[in-house]
Amino acid sequence: MGDAVGYDVIVVGARVAGAATALLLARRGLRVLTVDRAAFPSDTLSSHQIQPPGVERLARWGLLDRLGDAPPTHRVRLDSTATVLDGTFPGGGAIHSPRRTLLDHALVEAARAAGAEVRERWRVEDLVWEDGRVAGVRGGSAGGQLRTERAPLVVGADGKRSFVAQAVRASARRHHAPRSFASYTYWAGVPLTAGELHQREGLAAAAFPTNGGLTMVYMSAPLAGFDAFRADAEAGYLAALDRCGDLGDRVRAGTRAERLRTTPDLPGHVRAAHGPGWCLVGDAGVTMDPVSAQGIANALRDAEGLATAIADGLGGVRPLRAALADHERDRDRALRPMYDFTLRLATYHSGPAERLFLRAVARRRDPATVERVFGAFAGTVPVDEVFGARGALRLAAAGFAAGIDARLRTEPSAR
Ligand SMILES: Cc1cc2nc3c(=O)[nH]c(=O)nc-3n(C[C@H](O)[C@H](O)[C@H](O)COP(=O)(O)OP(=O)(O)OC[C@H]3O[C@@H](n4cnc5c(N)ncnc54)[C@H](O)[C@@H]3O)c2cc1C
Repeated sequence: MGDAVGYDVIVVGARVAGAATALLLARRGLRVLTVDRAAFPSDTLSSHQIQPPGVERLARWGLLDRLGDAPPTHRVRLDSTATVLDGTFPGGGAIHSPRRTLLDHALVEAARAAGAEVRERWRVEDLVWEDGRVAGVRGGSAGGQLRTERAPLVVGADGKRSFVAQAVRASARRHHAPRSFASYTYWAGVPLTAGELHQREGLAAAAFPTNGGLTMVYMSAPLAGFDAFRADAEAGYLAALDRCGDLGDRVRAGTRAERLRTTPDLPGHVRAAHGPGWCLVGDAGVTMDPVSAQGIANALRDAEGLATAIADGLGGVRPLRAALADHERDRDRALRPMYDFTLRLATYHSGPAERLFLRAVARRRDPATVERVFGAFAGTVPVDEVFGARGALRLAAAGFAAGIDARLRTEPSAR
């Protein structure tokens, strides 16, 4: 694969999408260079619930025990405007919420151990083009000379504002301007009995345990309120938590361990996944508002699909273009329902049908039904099967029937 100098693949960006892609390509025997302008371990502006399918991948790749002491979350409590649901994920799945300092570093080290060359503090400034195809990158360390590195494929894993996507003019299949802002920090002395999701009109919040006994507490709300919020972000953050049952009180009884991180930069897009000499993976290809916390699990799934397609294509198992086209089709099929559901969550408003549906689930008192709802949030049960019109109607009807049934049993006079 490739000639004596150069690489089979260059990956730009070495966090969840880039390091995972490099790791999987190196394990398939390809010569991989991955570069990042950051050094590791380092944090990035992101909370870090990893949905069960992402956790499963990390376990399969042998990385789950390298993420420190963040406890798995098997139980979740959804406290919405409609009702409260408390339950588990299908198949015993769990959310893990390790700090990005640990997760990204573990992936980078695993990629290195698999044989990938990883250059930190190395920024790509330009792409190299040959006969209308991307054929490499130009970049280097701050203040150093620019170098050219060549490969038949350059993978942009460089995040939602991807330089690679812009340089190749990757077409946007879908694009949504930011709808939300988000704010989160870490608290000591705020123990949880379950992961917490709170939904209020104009607000969402989440609380999950992470490393070092800390609890990550996150809130997001419509972008329209951002100017008012940022005038006093700390007060705005606590006021939001005060609207979520006793979460505000519990947080105030604890100690804030780190600064508050706030961002209004939460766009959504789906870009083409590949073109001549280039591919996109992770947020560079697909970005969703983090209100649904899918980005990391998406990036890991996407990295696996892309690495398989590239290794098959460059290894002669099937033509590269066909393999990449199949990967893009699978990616888009997998993400579409969740992308739409995420847009809906980012309205911060639940309509009457959704409220009716959640109340019907609660009334059923059936752990398997609650599991399906949490499976939909987690991406293990197709979200449109649960929250789509047919699923909701079926359940609402069943809940209605169960309600009548229960009333008939408790009110004999109604017979
Ligand atoms: C506030 C917030 C909360 C979130 N919460 C969650 C959550 O709870 N769960 C979840 O699953 N997802 C969450 N996400 C989404 C998640 O952060 C992203 O989906 C994920 O980080 C995407 O990973 P990535 O590797 O594609 O990109 P990134 O993590 O953005 O990494 C891109 C890398 O590329 C490097 N890079 C960029 N340009 C260059 C260049 N020119 N040269 C060299 N290197 C370059 C950067 O230094 C960076 O390290 C959240 C996002 C935000 C903003």
